[in-house]
Amino acid sequence: MSHSVIKVPLSAIDQMKMTYSGSLTASVPQGAVFQAKPPGCTITAYKSGKVLFQGKNAAAESARWGTAEPQEKKKTAKKPADPRYVPPANIAGMSVIGSDEVGTGDYFGPMTVVCAYVDKTMLPLMKELGVKDSKDLKDPQIIEIARNLIKTIPYSLLVLKNDKYNSMQEKGMSQGKMKALLHNQAITHLLRKMDGVKPEAILIDQFAEPGVYFNHLKGRDIVKERTYFSTKAEGIHLSVAAASIIARYSFLMEMDKLSREAGMTLPKGAGPHVDEAAAKLILKKGASALRAYTKLHFANTQKAQRLAAKKRS
Ligand code: MG
Repeated sequence: MSHSVIKVPLSAIDQMKMTYSGSLTASVPQGAVFQAKPPGCTITAYKSGKVLFQGKNAAAESARWGTAEPQEKKKTAKKPADPRYVPPANIAGMSVIGSDEVGTGDYFGPMTVVCAYVDKTMLPLMKELGVKDSKDLKDPQIIEIARNLIKTIPYSLLVLKNDKYNSMQEKGMSQGKMKALLHNQAITHLLRKMDGVKPEAILIDQFAEPGVYFNHLKGRDIVKERTYFSTKAEGIHLSVAAASIIARYSFLMEMDKLSREAGMTLPKGAGPHVDEAAAKLILKKGASALRAYTKLHFANTQKAQRLAAKKRS
């Protein structure tokens, strides 16, 4: 049986307890704050900030929260999360705007950012509609849930088409900066739509340190009040899960549209099957066509060009 130990700030222990709220044990060992048994792992968090993970999934589970330090190695000081941006412990029950993005790792298709507002009175309905971590949902379920969500909750959707993405990228803008701009813009739009209704918190699924995020937005109107960041935020508030489902739904619809335009099915991801599809698209429409369908700076572009050249000869 494998095990691993990490040390985290106490605020992170609250967050962990919330994340594992579905698998907490009835009693806790002496000196422990909580014990939880998610699949393949027993987690015990102590008042000292030490957290013990045991079982076959111990390494994977502990990696979500920190780096296990081997006994002999010198401790490397890991920068703790900036407490100003750590979500409050009771955020799960609050009225929250959640924000998430999709399509950043896919060669084909747009980058899509969605933020959605879930009032606390709507939390039970969200559960009833099947809102949960979109990684646990198949595409047909995502489509069904999203179609209900967009009729039920206020949201803002931004689709950064490939042409636009490529020009921004060529001007030297990083993907991180594009994400920051889109999240901030989507949240701004949504707050305007909500017409005076103030969320108790804004929760962004963290893709960069908060300092980096706000730095990207320098010189703009930045939404900063009661704004929090967390990785795996889909598990922290249903508004992020809802945003993620709508974003994925929109991405799927955009991919269908692009596939129809291209006259072939454009695959998701960035693996070898994507190189093959891109090569086929080059042979069909010429290399310049990639601009409207793909994120050109990905390594897939060169691979596809080589494949297409090989097929031509
Ligand atoms: Mg995300």
